[in-house]
Amino acid sequence: MNEDAKTVMDNLSQGNLAFISKFSQELPKHVSGQSPKVAILTCADSRVPPELIFNAGIGEIFVIRVAGNVAFDPSVLGSLDYAVVNLHVPLLVILGHTNCGAVNASEGGPGDDSSIGQIVNEIRCCFGTPDNIKQNVLRQIELLKERSQIITDALEKGELEVKGAIYNLEDGKVNWI
Ligand SMILES: [Zn+2]
Repeated sequence: MNEDAKTVMDNLSQGNLAFISKFSQELPKHVSGQSPKVAILTCADSRVPPELIFNAGIGEIFVIRVAGNVAFDPSVLGSLDYAVVNLHVPLLVILGHTNCGAVNASEGGPGDDSSIGQIVNEIRCCFGTPDNIKQNVLRQIELLKERSQIITDALEKGELEVKGAIYNLEDGKVNWI
């Protein structure tokens, strides 16, 4: 195995042992099911960890992370639908962040047919706008409503709120939009 990868795996294993040591008492409480109160769609960026940002623990946030926090393919939409229909979350948040590489990449022009290119094209609506991070979040909220009948229905029944927010990498603050 590649030495770098082996070192990373060893570090992960050590981290896992530390996690087990810290949470061993709590883990059994979560085995039988989950009842998070919020679903968050945010970026895969390693600097945007929702549980840390919101000081939340195991079982508290249903998280979907994908580059550019795009409400795009069936795996994302299906996961969010699941959170609404099966877990009955009352709140769904689309959380963008400053210095988002995916949003910045979309400024470079249309993507190709590759998987990365398709993400770029989902974001590219916001090309050239000064607040493209915010515009992308707002667009993803609109797309979510267009693409998910389950979410639209839950909104109409008043069972769900969908909110946008921006996480600021510089100071850790989340601003609702
Ligand atoms: Zn990002």
